[in-house]
Amino acid sequence: MGPDFVKTICPYCGTGCGLILAVRNGQVVGCSPDRGHPVSKGALCIKGWTAREFIHHPERLTAPLLKKDGCFHEISWDEAIDLLVTRLRETVDRYGPRAVGGLCSARCTNEENYLFQKLIRIGLGSNNVDHCARLCHGPTVAAMGHALGSGAMTNPIADFAGTNFILAVGSNAAETFPVAMGELYRAREKGAQLVVIDPRTTEMAKNADLHLPLRPGTDIPLLSGMMHHILSSGLENRAFIEQRTEGFSELAAYLDDWPPERAAQICGVAPELIRHVAEAYAQAPSAMIIFCMGITQHACGTANVYAVCDLALLCGQVGRPHAGICPLRGQCNVQGACDMGGLPDVLPGYQKVEDDWVRMRFEAHWGAALPKEAGMTVTAAMAADDSPIRAAYIMGENPVMSDPDRRHTIEFLENLDFLVVQDIFHTDTTRLADLVLPAACFAEKEGTFTNTERRVQRLRKAVQAPGSALDDLMILCRVGRAMGLDFNYADSAAVMDEIASLTPSYGGISYRRLQYKGLHWPCTDFDHPGTAVLHQKRFSRGRGLFVVPEYRPPQEAPDEHYPLVLITGRMFCHYHTGTMTRRSPSLHREVDKPFVEVNPKDAERRGICDGDRIRVETRRGAISTTARVVPKVAEGTIFAAFHFHEAPADALTNNALDPVSNVPEFKACAVEIARE
Ligand code: SF4
Repeated sequence: MGPDFVKTICPYCGTGCGLILAVRNGQVVGCSPDRGHPVSKGALCIKGWTAREFIHHPERLTAPLLKKDGCFHEISWDEAIDLLVTRLRETVDRYGPRAVGGLCSARCTNEENYLFQKLIRIGLGSNNVDHCARLCHGPTVAAMGHALGSGAMTNPIADFAGTNFILAVGSNAAETFPVAMGELYRAREKGAQLVVIDPRTTEMAKNADLHLPLRPGTDIPLLSGMMHHILSSGLENRAFIEQRTEGFSELAAYLDDWPPERAAQICGVAPELIRHVAEAYAQAPSAMIIFCMGITQHACGTANVYAVCDLALLCGQVGRPHAGICPLRGQCNVQGACDMGGLPDVLPGYQKVEDDWVRMRFEAHWGAALPKEAGMTVTAAMAADDSPIRAAYIMGENPVMSDPDRRHTIEFLENLDFLVVQDIFHTDTTRLADLVLPAACFAEKEGTFTNTERRVQRLRKAVQAPGSALDDLMILCRVGRAMGLDFNYADSAAVMDEIASLTPSYGGISYRRLQYKGLHWPCTDFDHPGTAVLHQKRFSRGRGLFVVPEYRPPQEAPDEHYPLVLITGRMFCHYHTGTMTRRSPSLHREVDKPFVEVNPKDAERRGICDGDRIRVETRRGAISTTARVVPKVAEGTIFAAFHFHEAPADALTNNALDPVSNVPEFKACAVEIARE
């Protein structure tokens, strides 16, 4: 008998490509692209093609594990749930609800994230819920939410193909979103221009018409210089500014101080190039800005995103097809985890926890009181010397590898009275846990993911989880019931029905409607077709708001001891902390060990040759790795990917936080390298 075929979604990046899994005898035996998928249209990158390789890996967690005398021992689910509930409740009784915190996950479904935040808020009485958007697009949610009324991508991926000009700021999408970039390359075939702003000569930059290699952390001077030139040349869109925006005079006064010459001195890009790009962007019939961690992971990340919004508003390049602002989401469901209220200050649909009316509505529906004050962000909780957090529940995240200043993160987690971690494999974080719960992976459960363009799509179960592992939704239902909550959901579709009833932007979403192409939110009722392009007649907040972007240079400048700047990021064949991709034999063959990119001049000064073992050191720690000597990184900078636990980049990174979003400055800290 031939295999069965199950349509589902790639578990990696936020593009949300369609996969077809071939199943035979309870095993996934093949993985191929879904040719009818509305986003990927039959394309996959190497990670998608190989996505089945970790599913049946022998290292999958198969039973709940309790740590005793430093070793893990298998226990039953009843014992595990009982212990989890007892220890979290004890912590609340002893220290109060603000002493517990939960991390939900950009790799889990909408339904799981929804139930997780509901459990922490009404089961434990705490708003200390967060997830890895705190490490990436927190500034986007804050700045675009404030300036436009929504922190999401304004346009669908398909719009790239019809635009005339693409400005990529701090995004190496050619490596990190390769399938989405197919649309961008289609635009270029039709004559669209691509300009890349990035300190590194990335694959994206190599493919661009023009690359502006700015100094790390100087996006605001560069973008301000562009805006100054647009205004002084009369290239702004006056009608759009007058009819659809507010706050223009404050921005114009601020821009007086940013002639391109001054901007050039700070960012290192020639003033004539700044003028040239400004004119090209402003005069393009339609232009799109894409951005990513290159601008958000800075101590002025929120201000960087304000500058991007200001530029688009100034030129009227937002609020119509093929013109918009596109923050690309790195994980399969980071958009959905935010939408579902996996954040300390908002309930599902970005409804403020501190709004009495919002709380009353949720309390009436959930039948329980909600805490009134916003919770702590995970980065602030971990950075605090006297953190109030005494116990934590982590679902599908690996903060030991992903958060800044690894030594500090480990210290924080080791000092907790109780740590429970739910995951599919052991990670650097599960090893610190008191209790580990085995979860199902993407191929073993039903649910929905919301991709980077706000498209809610169905994830479908192909095989059973190994051993006694359960899907996160089932685990959360058992924990909720043990806490005395009414977590008696028949299935994930029933959870989505509850989400729709409480979340206006998901109001028209149901499994019945998601069968084929999914739906873009906002989708407010069951007759609503979904919204591909945001802000067309009015911005979600009414008028678009110009906000003066306050420039802060990187918080740790190079000095005589640490004269270089470290930039961290991703590479094409691995994904985040490597939990899944580093267990894929095909991806392992592509890149099997860590390395750091070093500019040839910096290498020569230190007697370092390509392939040498080097020590990389910052004020927070050191790693031993291999030097890859390449001109891709500018003189004075080095680059490290954060996928490798044997040379963890987060041992080096600085936990200086953006004051608005609390996102850490992963993209610039002072470092030195030496041959070992
Ligand atoms: Fe998966 Fe992203 Fe690659 Fe598509 S582009 S196959 S979603 S990793």
